[in-house]
Order: sequence, then structure tokens, then C-alpha cells
Amino acid sequence: KAKEAGRGTHAFFAEAMTEQLRHEIQLASELVSALEREELWLHYQPQVDLRSGALVGVEALVRWRHPERGLLHPGAFIEVAERRGMIRPISAWVLEAVCRQARAWRERGLVFGRVAVNLCAEQVGDDAFAEQILAVLERTGARPEELELEFTETVLIQADARTQADIIRLSEIGVRFAIDDFGTGFSSLQYLRNLRADKIKIDREFVKDVTHNTSDAEIVKATIALGAALGLETIAEGVETEAQAAFLRGHGCHQVQGFLYARPLEPEVLERDWLSRLVPTPRVADGV
Ligand code: C2E
Ligand code: MG
Ligand code: MG
Ligand code: MG
Repeated sequence: KAKEAGRGTHAFFAEAMTEQLRHEIQLASELVSALEREELWLHYQPQVDLRSGALVGVEALVRWRHPERGLLHPGAFIEVAERRGMIRPISAWVLEAVCRQARAWRERGLVFGRVAVNLCAEQVGDDAFAEQILAVLERTGARPEELELEFTETVLIQADARTQADIIRLSEIGVRFAIDDFGTGFSSLQYLRNLRADKIKIDREFVKDVTHNTSDAEIVKATIALGAALGLETIAEGVETEAQAAFLRGHGCHQVQGFLYARPLEPEVLERDWLSRLVPTPRVADGV
């Protein structure tokens, strides 16, 4: 009897596995057509200076307008894409779209600071990492100083000498680097020192309860102090309340990003509500 039950459980799990696998394979194949049919697009979330309140940059966050399932956030498909060999084409699309957008904003005289883009491990670990970034900049006409590349500590600790050299090379022409979700991975201070990041992004997980959880508060304070000691900028993500912002400001965090300021926005909304105009829009003679 026990044996039977065991088999039943086994069959149940096997079935659940198959179902999940089927879903994943389906999603991955839909991602191929998503790229072809231009179902992916980007939202941009403002990053704000805590002292002046000025916009310092925006983070590009990918979205998928799925034909049946509606609006999907990256949580619903990025990991699947990673597991099923789709992350490279998606990442390439995102990077290209971000760079085209940066150039378009600049040409319209819209001031956006920098656009931050999330990189996956495959992009950073690629032998041609720097070349690929340079090629996209070249192709799209975006400038290195308009780009901030974000990657996580997991990517950071995998970085070999060649990756480090690529990062330095890109840094030297003005591309900036931010360590995303800082505090959730396993990076040692040595990595931070060697890797010439410009910015650490304190993970939302620590920001969430920062005003009433003393250990989270200590972690956030220590991270800000670490950033200051290493000459890095600090930005806190997931800021939703004035109290959180006040805490961060009081402890010297430089920037914030979160629903208190703005959700990730459609580019048109960002332009209307957040981007200031540098010069009157030059009307390009384009035959219109
Ligand atoms: P992330 O890079 O840490 O991005 C921040 C996430 O926090 C975003 O979720 C954003 O919408 C959310 N967020 C921002 N402010 C708040 C807040 O005040 N409260 C709360 N509760 N959430 C807030 P999103 O857009 O769902 O993205 C999730 C993750 O997916 C990102 O985390 C990033 O790791 C990944 N991702 C997004 N776009 C891309 C992409 O183009 N390529 C790759 N490889 N990964 C991406
Ligand atoms: Mg990010
Ligand atoms: Mg983050
Ligand atoms: Mg995060």
C-alpha cells in the first residue's frame, strides 16, 4: 500500500513537472515570436536625487504585452528566458531599444540624465562584452555617458580578468556601472574594490522595513557608509514612503527610486511629467 502511495506521489510530481516544463517551453517559444511581433517594450522609472529632488536618470524595465495573457512583468518571463536560451536575444533587444530611446530623447532636447539597463550574466560574461556595447552605441548613436549598466553581485563574482578589463574599458569612455540588488548576493568587498562600479543599489528587501526593523536599518546604514568609504554613489530601490526617504536622506544615501516618486512609466508619460526640455525642439527637415 505504501508502495502504491509512493508511486502515486511520484506520478503526481512527474505530472506537475511535465506541466511546468510544458508551460516553460510554450512560453519560450512565444518569446521568439514576441521579439518578431514587437510585443516587448520598455517602461522607465525615474531615479531622483534625495537632496535636490532632481531627476538623475531612469531605469529601463522590460514588459511583455502577451497576446493572451496581457501585460507581463519580467518576473513572469526573464527566468524562463534564462533557462531556455532566450535571454540573449531579449537582452540584445532591450539594450538596442534603450540606446535608440536615449538618442531620440537627446535629439528632442529632453534631459534624462542616464538610462540604466539591467544586464544578464550572459551579456557580461560574453567574450565580446565590451565590443557589443560599443557596437550598440555606434549603431544607435547613443553616447557612453548616457548609459548605466546594472548587474547583480552574482554576475560580479563570476567576473574574470577579461570581464574586469572590459568593464574598465567601458568605464574609461564614460559608461557607468551599478551593482543591482546589493546585499542579497555574496559579493566580497574585494570584488567591489576591483570592479570599479560607480554605484550600489540597495535592494528593496532592506528598504521595505527600514523604519521599524533595526537590523534592516543597520544594514542600510552600513551599506551607505560602505559606499561612501569606497567613493561610490548609493541609490535605494523600492522607496514607497516619506519615512523611508527621510531615513535614507538622514543617513546620506544619494538617490532613490520607488513608487513614492514614480512607478515605471510609459515613455510618453515620463516625457510629459519628468523630462525637462533643454532647448526648443529643433524641427528636423525630414520631409514631414
Ligand atoms: P530590478 O532591476 O531590481 O528592478 C526594480 C524592480 O522593482 C522593478 O520590477 C520595479 O518595477 C520594482 N519597483 C520599483 N519601485 C518599487 C517600489 O517602490 N515598490 C515595489 N514593490 N517595487 C518597486 P520589475 O519591473 O518587475 O522588474 C523585476 C526585475 O526584473 C528587475 O529587478 C530586474 O532584475 C529584472 N529585469 C527588468 N527588466 C529587465 C531587462 O530588460 N533585462 C533583464 N535581464 N532583467 C530585467
Ligand atoms: Mg535593476
Ligand atoms: Mg534592483
Ligand atoms: Mg531588486
